[in-house]
Amino acid sequence: MKIKVDFDLCESNALCEAMAPEVFELDDDDYLVVKAEHTTSETLEDVKRAVAACPRAAISLEED
Ligand code: SF4
Repeated sequence: MKIKVDFDLCESNALCEAMAPEVFELDDDDYLVVKAEHTTSETLEDVKRAVAACPRAAISLEED
C-alpha cells in the first residue's frame, strides 16, 4: 500500500518511528523522513501501528 504523510499535520513526536523505524525516521532537524513509498509484507503491520499511534492522524495508507 502507498504510505502518505500530511507534513502540515506532523508535529515530529517520533511515535511513528517507534512503531516502524524501518519506514519512519526523524532527521537531525526533527524533520520526518519517510524512507519507503510503499509498504512491504514485512513492514505493513508496523506501518499500520504507526498510523494508529499518530496523534495527529498525519499518516494514511492508500491502495496501490
Ligand atoms: S507519529 Fe504522526 S505526528 Fe508523530 S512524527 Fe509521526 S507522522 Fe508526525
